[in-house]
Amino acid sequence: MSFSKLGLSAALLKAVEQQHFTTVYPIQQAAIPAILGGKDVLGIAKTGSGKTLSYALPVLQQQLHKPPAANRHIKALILVPTRELAVQVGEVFKQLSQYLPKPIKTMAVFGGVSINPQMMELQGVEVLVATPGRLLDLVSVKALHLDIVELLVLDEADKMLNLGFKDEMNKIFALLPPKRQNLLFSATLGKDIHTITELLLHNPIKIEIEEAE
Ligand code: ADP
Ligand code: MG
Repeated sequence: MSFSKLGLSAALLKAVEQQHFTTVYPIQQAAIPAILGGKDVLGIAKTGSGKTLSYALPVLQQQLHKPPAANRHIKALILVPTRELAVQVGEVFKQLSQYLPKPIKTMAVFGGVSINPQMMELQGVEVLVATPGRLLDLVSVKALHLDIVELLVLDEADKMLNLGFKDEMNKIFALLPPKRQNLLFSATLGKDIHTITELLLHNPIKIEIEEAE
């Protein structure tokens, strides 16, 4: 199967093509249409199976058809457990956004670096990748507002829980509007993931990719 069959805009396909990705990975094949259809999704697949693209492509596709939001009010929030992952996912969004007919500003925020440049750069951002602690810091100084978030992604949700981010995550969930689309991606499906799935996802489409080997 090729990416061109997934209902994505030519600008996104061009960015994918630039990376010489020819086949669609199974998690992408299942998740992209489900997300474009507005469904909540629980995606379980091992590391390296292509989970980032499975949400980054439809998130950008959805935003292409939406009016811009008020400044500093983000519309899509991707929560990740670590600074390294925030940088990596942020780069994927930047790569995918480069040819869009309507510019969509994306950004990654994370701790361990000074907050001031991030506060400035948040101007006009619509799609934000964030670690939980820094996100809450930015909200508390009103550099960022979460009241119109339409879509929440938890990436590496298992790791986020293992690293002890549960309280921060709950604080963030409480700041989000109740009506929104929720996506949860994880390499494993443990008891904690089950609990958070029950709490967060509404009639989710569950996609579990078994190892091919
Ligand atoms: P995961 O989040 O499941 O661990 P990633 O999204 O980080 O996986 O992807 C793992 C690697 O596979 C990345 O280097 C990514 O660029 C690459 N990749 C993703 N989708 C495809 C694809 N359809 N074809 C080839 N490579 C891909
Ligand atoms: Mg990943």
